[in-house]
Amino acid sequence: MRSCNLAYLQEMAKLSRSLHPKAAERKRLLNQVMAYANQFLEEIETAPAYVPTPNDPGLDDLKIRETGIDIAEAILQLNKSVDSIGINLCSGHYLGYVPSGGLFHAALGDFLAAITNRFAGLHTVSPGAVKMENMLLKWMADIVGYPEFARGNLTSGGSMANLISVVTARDAFEVVGKEIGRAVVYITDQTHHSVAKALRIAGLGRCVVRKIPVDPACRMDPSALDKALAADGSAGKRPWLIVASAGTTNTGAVDPLGEIAEIAERYGAWLHVDGAYGGFFVLCPEGHQVLRGMHLSDSLVLDPHKSLFMPYGTGAVLVKDGPKLYRAFKAEADYLQSDLDGAEEPSPADLSPELSKHFRGLRIWLSLMVLGIAPFRAALSEKIHLARYFHQKIKHRKGFEVGPYPDLSIATYRYIPKWGDADAFNHRLMRAVQNEGKIYISSTLIKGKVVLRTAILSFRTHLDEVKQALDVLAKTAKRLEEE
Ligand SMILES: *Cc1c(COP(=O)(O)O)cnc(C)c1O
Repeated sequence: MRSCNLAYLQEMAKLSRSLHPKAAERKRLLNQVMAYANQFLEEIETAPAYVPTPNDPGLDDLKIRETGIDIAEAILQLNKSVDSIGINLCSGHYLGYVPSGGLFHAALGDFLAAITNRFAGLHTVSPGAVKMENMLLKWMADIVGYPEFARGNLTSGGSMANLISVVTARDAFEVVGKEIGRAVVYITDQTHHSVAKALRIAGLGRCVVRKIPVDPACRMDPSALDKALAADGSAGKRPWLIVASAGTTNTGAVDPLGEIAEIAERYGAWLHVDGAYGGFFVLCPEGHQVLRGMHLSDSLVLDPHKSLFMPYGTGAVLVKDGPKLYRAFKAEADYLQSDLDGAEEPSPADLSPELSKHFRGLRIWLSLMVLGIAPFRAALSEKIHLARYFHQKIKHRKGFEVGPYPDLSIATYRYIPKWGDADAFNHRLMRAVQNEGKIYISSTLIKGKVVLRTAILSFRTHLDEVKQALDVLAKTAKRLEEE
């Protein structure tokens, strides 16, 4: 079939034209999607925070086939097999792990980003999209107190942002070959596991990793850190990377960033601050106070899909000395003639592992533009005060003992039963509360003990939800103890 077959072309075109629906069909599709989204949002306050999940969510009922099905049928399947089971992360009653966001405005930004499909990887291709993402990164640099020459990247999340930071610090210190076994990384037992994963991915699995002890509030002990760096220096090791947490995932503890920065400076080590959970609390006065010293780091991770209430898939990394980020990720290819016009604006493709990427900046930009910063500051401040309230109240409920006063918006506590093993009891308490579905909390291990945690970070969590959590916990503990 060498010659061009016009009949065949027409037949294929007829089919492929359904990929570009006309106005009436678009309207019909949009109406169906909007109706479903509205129903989901209308029911969010009463929907369970958790529905125990069957092993098979039944997605295989609908096979992917040659011919399509009606969108209404597809949405029904989505509702049944995805949105009605497991944890409802959009619920204001979801207080487990680290709650994420899901702002309506951000969803509209995503919709538009997908419709216009701007290529946000290269300035030459889409100068506006790249400029918008750089503007957002500049805004983040400003609110944390990073200088003009800082550079960053909007990532898919905190794990990628930690990886980018580790690679940048590796290349800045030329931790290669024999140097790897000599280089020392300082963390605590509260450091997020994505840091160890990043080291492994970056080929640094043979680095020496020192776990610095923490104080009773789970914050890194700076005097122990100081001693460890001194000892490593005199033993011929190379103190390379200190990873401090600006809000640990476990308890929300903020390491003493100012003191740690002073130590890093004195020994010439790279200070990375993981603020994936807590970073954006810098926007409210209470958080700003707790996070002081954060700007003294060399690199910093912030997750807009945590403390900026964005939907999943939005992280950020900032590197204070911007050129170091560029040196680690600058890409060259014959077909990427991007720098030929001497573009000043840095491109994400030169500051991250990605080339083609989601234009994730638009969801942040549209939200911040339309809502302004004030509601974000208010929500963050509210979360801190709700965690303090919860901590104070649970402390006075019979049988409960509490962890440290919350630095940010996570409170820890456990129930001490009159008899029996407290760890097993708290596990049972957590499971019972989860399965009831009214609220969702999670647990962790602190110094070998099972501890319950209430993490308040949904923009839909207010005083009513927190009061309900207190009641559910007290009632369930009493019931289990009487059983
Ligand atoms: C959530 C979290 C991460 C990982 O971020 P992802 O966005 O889930 O990849 C890293 N560090 C801390 C402190 C976190 O809370």
